[in-house]
Amino acid sequence: MKHRDTELFEIIQREKTRQNTTLQLIASENFASEEVLAAAGSVLTNKYSEGYPSKRYYGGNIHIDESESLAIWRVKKLFGAEHANVQPHSGANANMAAYLAVLQPGDTVLGMSLDHGGHLTHGSPVNFSGIIYNFAGYGVTESDERIDYDNIAELAREKQPKLIVAGSTAYPRIIQPDLIRKIADEVGALFMFDAAHVAGLIAGGVYPNPVEYADIVTFTNHKTMRGPRGGTILCKAELADAIDKAVFPGLQGGPLEHIISAKAVSFFEADTPEFKNYAAQIVKNAQAFADALGTHNFRLVSGGTDTHLLLVDLRTFDEELSGKDAQIVLDKAGITTNKNTVPDDPRSPFVASGLRLGTPAVTTAGMREGEMSTIADLMAEALKGRNDEAVLKKVRAGVADLCAKFTPYP
Ligand SMILES: *Cc1c(COP(=O)(O)O)cnc(C)c1O
Repeated sequence: MKHRDTELFEIIQREKTRQNTTLQLIASENFASEEVLAAAGSVLTNKYSEGYPSKRYYGGNIHIDESESLAIWRVKKLFGAEHANVQPHSGANANMAAYLAVLQPGDTVLGMSLDHGGHLTHGSPVNFSGIIYNFAGYGVTESDERIDYDNIAELAREKQPKLIVAGSTAYPRIIQPDLIRKIADEVGALFMFDAAHVAGLIAGGVYPNPVEYADIVTFTNHKTMRGPRGGTILCKAELADAIDKAVFPGLQGGPLEHIISAKAVSFFEADTPEFKNYAAQIVKNAQAFADALGTHNFRLVSGGTDTHLLLVDLRTFDEELSGKDAQIVLDKAGITTNKNTVPDDPRSPFVASGLRLGTPAVTTAGMREGEMSTIADLMAEALKGRNDEAVLKKVRAGVADLCAKFTPYP
């Protein structure tokens, strides 16, 4: 298509080139398929459809109802859920709606501490969750840097929460939903699993399905699920009305039906043998990446990963190197990452001692274990030679070679 607004479309073209020619290692990112992009960019954006399929406030929703119903049907089948709401505009909105459905302001909630990998919506004082509700945080042990279920149980007995939230943005290990269900039952709490990062791994069968255990499961569609940017809520049948009312009219106005149609496409894609292979390959790649980083003296928090995500402690590689500086250097070399605190990090979150890495995007681009080892070599070379422009140029060229062979949007 010839564009009239060349200024904006040239910006989009530059971003596409960036995605095609640099390495995307941010654990929460992925490359949506051309069909997901087509649905997200479709005429469904034009329609107002407040309400739910066959219960809309406006006329003309015959095809919108078909699309949203298809998304609901597909996601329920994919996860074995009793009820689904596909309208949340994002993961944060999905969590907000879940809280609105089951909590009163001031209610006590347990969630993972932010400095141990919890999300802002799990009780950060600068987030609505911490402002409206009374969150208490659990974390990982000092010894093995894994979730301490005994600590959750103790805290639950002490705090008597109305809700226990599990899920994380920076935890490389599997969170066991059956163990948290037991704790919730013991203290009479509801259990919400925030599967934002791992929904695609669950759909692909390489991570335990929390739908069996949790009263509510929320997730983002754009991380390992590889759909459009957005959120989804799954819940038990008895919470269906409360969840639907919380999303609309409780929290949102008109749903983003173009995005919901793109969610439907990604649920279709996730229900295939190819996606199972994809999910398994994400984890294999992450483990190969962890091993390769280990040979360069990077320390992996918790010793490795069971998922798509790696949390690298940079201090064993170079005590002086902060996460912030590493992110900047790697950006220059064409390697996109994000700084992240490690458990009990002495540095502030704006500086941090770690890097969070993930394999969902590079795996979508077709990379395998061999490429993970190449990437680890490139990272080590760039970070060692961080004050030498020639080294960074050489690494950038190596990254360009790799990306030329694995281009997400040719
Ligand atoms: C990413 C994430 C969210 C929020 O998703 P947004 O779409 O960015 O609002 C919520 N919870 C967890 C655990 C996340 O990782």
